[in-house]
Amino acid sequence: MDRVVLERLRAGLRDARSQLLRTAAATEGELTTLEAREPGAPIEDAARQEVIGILARLDDRERQEMEEIDAAFARLHAGTYGVCESCEGSIPIPRLQAMPATRHCLTCQVIRE
Ligand SMILES: [Zn+2]
Repeated sequence: MDRVVLERLRAGLRDARSQLLRTAAATEGELTTLEAREPGAPIEDAARQEVIGILARLDDRERQEMEEIDAAFARLHAGTYGVCESCEGSIPIPRLQAMPATRHCLTCQVIRE
């Protein structure tokens, strides 16, 4: 995938993640704690407990979205971003631009629903 396109998608994921963090955090201090947590990076237990406590305020849909975003960051890290998890085909870039955290190409998504 084109590096510029990939960077733009990564920025989109970061924005979506920041938005969710802002929804969860009640104070600036909490927001700092959440934003210090690099997606996919290991964090110490004390910080993890705090992060889990703050994120528990998100509703189910938001939490699901956060998990999808974290999983997308993990795939970026692993170099498998943009690959459909079902058929292993490339997910078209316009679909990624519309839904940067998607795991499946449209065909596989339709089959799953
Ligand atoms: Zn597929």
